[in-house]
Amino acid sequence: MSQALRPSPLKSQFAGKFFSQTGSGEATPATRMASSKGGNTTAHMNTLHQRLYHALNLGFRRVCNEKEKKWECTDIEIQRHVVRSISAFLDCFSRGTANNRLIKDSISDIAGALVFILGYKNRAVVGSAANVVIRLIRIVPPSILQSHSLDLVESLSPLLSCRQLEVSLPCAVALNAILLNMRETKEKEAWKVLEDARTVASVVGNLQKFSEGSVSVEWFQEMASLLSTVMLKWPLSRYSVWHNSSLMVLLESVSQKPDMGLRVATLKLYSSLALCGHGASELLDNGKLMLDMMISCMDESNPPNARIEGLKLAQRLATGNQECLKMINICSEPLVKATVEIMGKWFFSSGKLEHDHMSLLVEACKLALIARWEGEHHIYFWKYQISEALLSLVVENFRSLSLDCRMSLEEEVSVAEKVLNGNFLPSLRSYVWDIIGFLAAHCEEDFDSICIGDELRLNFLVTCACLTFSRSVQKGYQICQNDIMSASQSESASRAVLMMIYSPSKYISTRARVTLSFILGEDGEQNLNSLVNFLSYIPSSGGYVLPNVLQTTVCLVGLACYSSIPQYAGFILGHKGFEILLSFCSWYQRNRGNIGESSFAPYPQSTSEKRICCWVCPEDWDSKDAFLLYALLALAELVNHSFSEQNHAEEFSIKRENVKDRLCTTLQEIRDGTYGSGPRWYASHVLSYFGYYGFQHKLGKRLIGAFEDEECSDMRLLFASGNSVSVNKIILAVRCPTLLPPEKGARSGSMISSEKPQRTVQEIRMSANVDTLALVKLLEFAYSGYVEVESTTVKKLKTLARHCKSKVLLQMLCRRRPKWGSSIPRIDIPLALTPKLIHLSDFILVPKETIITGFNCRFCSSTSPHAHSHRVILSSGCEYLRALFRSGMQESNLDRLNVPVSWLGLTKLVNWFYCDELPKPPLGCKWNNMDTEAKLDELEAYVEIYSLTEWWIMEDLQNECAQVILSCLESARELSIKAIELAASFSMWKLVEAAAEHAAPIYHQLRDSGELDELDDELVNLIRTAAVHFSQQGC
Ligand SMILES: [Zn+2]
Ligand SMILES: [Zn+2]
Repeated sequence: MSQALRPSPLKSQFAGKFFSQTGSGEATPATRMASSKGGNTTAHMNTLHQRLYHALNLGFRRVCNEKEKKWECTDIEIQRHVVRSISAFLDCFSRGTANNRLIKDSISDIAGALVFILGYKNRAVVGSAANVVIRLIRIVPPSILQSHSLDLVESLSPLLSCRQLEVSLPCAVALNAILLNMRETKEKEAWKVLEDARTVASVVGNLQKFSEGSVSVEWFQEMASLLSTVMLKWPLSRYSVWHNSSLMVLLESVSQKPDMGLRVATLKLYSSLALCGHGASELLDNGKLMLDMMISCMDESNPPNARIEGLKLAQRLATGNQECLKMINICSEPLVKATVEIMGKWFFSSGKLEHDHMSLLVEACKLALIARWEGEHHIYFWKYQISEALLSLVVENFRSLSLDCRMSLEEEVSVAEKVLNGNFLPSLRSYVWDIIGFLAAHCEEDFDSICIGDELRLNFLVTCACLTFSRSVQKGYQICQNDIMSASQSESASRAVLMMIYSPSKYISTRARVTLSFILGEDGEQNLNSLVNFLSYIPSSGGYVLPNVLQTTVCLVGLACYSSIPQYAGFILGHKGFEILLSFCSWYQRNRGNIGESSFAPYPQSTSEKRICCWVCPEDWDSKDAFLLYALLALAELVNHSFSEQNHAEEFSIKRENVKDRLCTTLQEIRDGTYGSGPRWYASHVLSYFGYYGFQHKLGKRLIGAFEDEECSDMRLLFASGNSVSVNKIILAVRCPTLLPPEKGARSGSMISSEKPQRTVQEIRMSANVDTLALVKLLEFAYSGYVEVESTTVKKLKTLARHCKSKVLLQMLCRRRPKWGSSIPRIDIPLALTPKLIHLSDFILVPKETIITGFNCRFCSSTSPHAHSHRVILSSGCEYLRALFRSGMQESNLDRLNVPVSWLGLTKLVNWFYCDELPKPPLGCKWNNMDTEAKLDELEAYVEIYSLTEWWIMEDLQNECAQVILSCLESARELSIKAIELAASFSMWKLVEAAAEHAAPIYHQLRDSGELDELDDELVNLIRTAAVHFSQQGC
């Protein structure tokens, strides 16, 4: 293609003569004038194009066949000449004229020559060559350069380590620009190139030169910018950066310098680092200085880009709940203050929005979504008057809005209507609703006192949200999912109203209810009717996908909101709303797999940034199974309504006896299933109306086996009636310590000796006031986290639960609504291993190592490795130990047991016994950067536990181990040979087979490298068979 236009050798020879006369490839003043005259531009371009080819032709070599040419010339003068000619040629173009055919057709020759010259690494030329690359990128659209980008990366990256700043600096700039524009499809290859050239190490080295003071601020900025780009695109590069402590120290000191350019550069670097969860956590561990600098950058006095970078870093650090809390614990007040100020103060400056101000507002709104998590930052949002800030984003000309406490609701609604019709800043609207919704959901009960002075604005926001929501309800079938902007507004306003209605603050929830029923007015029943009809259609249609995601959301949220208003609850109940909601829940359970995302619009709170790594983000309370949550909220309100009306509880049971069983079964399935925490909590909440309290967990089911088991108990509670129950001190100590007698001073119980010499059972006489049945129920809950209680006992149990400070049980007995975002309660048995309770430990587990340097027991003076534990917890989790402890054999009286696993394995094993969770090996970047030996140690621990579980008969744990082992092999195939050896040495053939399957794809590689030579023939055969099988399947 380029050949057709290439000037004939004759012409270029002529051009050459001309060239040699002027003696330079650079544009002379005369030619520059020509280019500016317009008329001569084309002629001028042609001339420079001819000169360019004259220069290029000096370096073309024919390769292989006659047709292809490659630019390869090692002569420095010619290289220099070519670089100048390209530069002069590029001078006549700008981004606007880059579509010229001359440039399009010569681009591959230009790029070829530059790639060769850069790759030849002659210091006299490479600097100016890199500068030409920079200009090329600025002029030519990325799509045209795409096919050369990998070659350019390959020739530029080795030059970064060049000591001459005038070489490495332009190379960094050029490389950065290329990488930023690189297509995703090429990223894998590009990473290979960068890795081979050790690019990250050279850039890090370059950054460190800054501390010597030998380089400029600009140098630091460019290197930092390049490193940020690399980390942004390639997660694998991140570990070596955040793991480099001297670099991190340097960054911290640089970030404290007053120069804004340096600060922005470090902010960008930190932001890219924080894409890795481990990196973010590391940054926050000693993050005070960094966070202070970040917040100071958000200040008004700084340029918009610095403020935006500050906001972006804060957003990244808040990707996960835990890290967000860490950040909030360090700087909640200044962070929230800065964010709210950006959102609310913009109209003071000019009243008009400039473009960069808009992006600033978007970033501030995104950051304000940290309100989705509980924490001390909430009070500061109110303190700095978030309502005002949000209103300024909803109401155009906010200052002219006069709110008056004498205004009637009717007047307020009509003002709100005008405001909403103005449709001011529509792109920010869904953030506004989400933020106010989350704030409402996490309010304290006594919230009113906090927002003094801000009520009028808050009220008006509530009104606007309710109005937006009821408009969506009224639109019904006309809601248009294709108009993303208004659709996501509908969606977030609906959710916001829901969170307001369910707010713990009576003030907000009452206000929302009153406003909603006022707006609904006379059309109320008609609207409700259509909601109920719509919902009844879904399960009855026989379909297995939702008809319309947005409409379903609005419908379910509508039912959840209206059910909380008594007059409407009655109406919904009367129109079979209860049965319809229940059918919807069952339908949802059956079709959960087909339903997918519960939100169709790009959900602003979603943390699903594509390029993050190593973040552990638990599902948000309401993002998983949101439809089910809304349906359950409505069900809960309807049940509550039926029960609260006097004598209607009876009626409910009689009228709905036929659905009661179905309801309870469905709810129990949801409560104990793998659903989101929100639906699980609400299922449990509704079940509490029918006498079922708590959650059933595996750990609880295990522990309840120890309750009233005389043989393993160490305490007996004696009742006035003469009955008694056997319990375990350690469980009481963890779950309801007030039941234990005071440890020091007078002991109320007498110590008696049991049959076995080592075991003593303490007896406690209970006061006659204590209700036996209620206490047994309380103990059941303490052991298992779950209990079924007849309504006649509830009152007595409440008193006991209050006395024992069993908060969770009390909340359920009082039928208090679950708090938004609260996690499923756990049985905190690990508390048993804390120093306060360790004296109750009665058994010691000893690993196979006898010496671990630096081993230090926190509880006793023994220096050989060991772990303290409790017989009752061990035996409840393991049949073998249970039998052993009560066998009466000599071992049953021992206080320690040798366990054939390493110390690492033993800690994991103990964790499983106490948390019902096998700790996983380090994740992501940490795992990938562990050396093979450390990985093998991890793997070995799991293999040992796996083998132990065969002997100790622990099937669940065995399955968990197998899963971990396989996922280790998945991520590190190089371990499979060792894993095979290891598993074979334990005679665990199932595991051997699984590992062989993992080795199968790399069988040939393994064979050729000789790694298989050390294995038994039998094992090699096994892998070969697996490999054959693999290749057959692959075909
Ligand atoms: Zn990572
Ligand atoms: Zn110890």
